[in-house]
Amino acid sequence: MVADLAFFQQQPLDRLNTLRLPARARFFARAFSEPALRYILGSVTAHNFPLYILGGGSNLVLAGALDGLVVQPALMGRELITMQGDTALVRVGAGESWHQTVLWTLQQGWSGLENLALIPGTVGASPIQNIGAYGVEVSDRLHSVRALQISTGDLRTFTADECGFAYRDSIFKSQVAGEYVVIDVLFKLNTKPDLCLDYGDIRGELARQQVSRISPMAVAQAVMAIRSSKLPDPAQLGNAGSFFKNPTVSVEHANSLKQAFPDLVAYPNAQGVKLAAGWLIEHAGWKGYQQGAVAVHDRQALVLVNHGGGTGAELLDLAAKIRASVNAKFAVELEQEPIIWQ
Ligand SMILES: Cc1cc2nc3c(=O)[nH]c(=O)nc-3n(C[C@H](O)[C@H](O)[C@H](O)COP(=O)(O)OP(=O)(O)OC[C@H]3O[C@@H](n4cnc5c(N)ncnc54)[C@H](O)[C@@H]3O)c2cc1C
Repeated sequence: MVADLAFFQQQPLDRLNTLRLPARARFFARAFSEPALRYILGSVTAHNFPLYILGGGSNLVLAGALDGLVVQPALMGRELITMQGDTALVRVGAGESWHQTVLWTLQQGWSGLENLALIPGTVGASPIQNIGAYGVEVSDRLHSVRALQISTGDLRTFTADECGFAYRDSIFKSQVAGEYVVIDVLFKLNTKPDLCLDYGDIRGELARQQVSRISPMAVAQAVMAIRSSKLPDPAQLGNAGSFFKNPTVSVEHANSLKQAFPDLVAYPNAQGVKLAAGWLIEHAGWKGYQQGAVAVHDRQALVLVNHGGGTGAELLDLAAKIRASVNAKFAVELEQEPIIWQ
């Protein structure tokens, strides 16, 4: 056995996913260094186990026992690599907390991640679905990703362009899904703030807080206040944030919906018109609906919650009913955001 590796059998995962869904991993390893990670990944290739890479478990639906190996890359470290003009290139280990990293960059005087404050999870998972909030996506601030290829152990650097970023998407969810483990991310941050204030109610919140000098940290604090007022805290109520992506439909489809539902929430984008999934779910009558221990949150219809004791199967059953009903009422197909492990 190598150092820097914690290994367990029949590991309960209930506390390792923010929906607090019950599941157990046949084998579980936490790797604290790159050699430890290589070692454990090598054993997977040798034994041909199903492999699952776990970050903070905040974008997962665990729907059964996992008869394989769950690996959690706990690779830590944050460092300034170089300054190029007004840009700071900063490398952060995959196991670092996303939110703590955002705060740390702001404390160093580097801006760019402030709108992404309070998103749960790890830095290593941030490129997987290209996390985004309040008008910023991590792809806007990402220089490159270093990842280990599971089958060969080779280290590869993906430039931002090579990551194939799109709305809540990257090649790590499609072309190379399951092939790489992210070990660290290189961010390009600004020493001269270029703030993005026009999404959500950031300006309103800054005014409410009577902020006279709008700094990147003030923006992060405004975002944190807005998020805390809208989204349930996973420490109090099991959830995985938005359960569905905002769907994009054709302009014609959006126009016909707008005629039938004048208060439809819709934003034009390059592909057509993006609809607010939360609005569709709420107007299909699901807000606050409870089925056993799982439910649609009573303040934010986009969030499914586990009141305690619910299972992944129950949650997926509720999600399927919501999808079917939204499709029947609006002819819109909802796509689930969290990844299912079963
Ligand atoms: C309350 C709440 C609010 C949220 N708000 C937002 C939001 O505003 N915007 C947003 O985009 N998301 C949001 N999310 C979703 C979630 O926080 C993000 O998707 C986050 O990046 C997931 O990180 P994680 O470490 O928990 O990943 P996990 O849930 O553990 O894993 C998610 C996926 O990433 C893979 N993965 C994890 N680490 C690695 C790695 N090192 N290498 C390769 N693959 C890896 C996993 O295999 C899995 O496929 C929210 C979730 C919650 C609970």
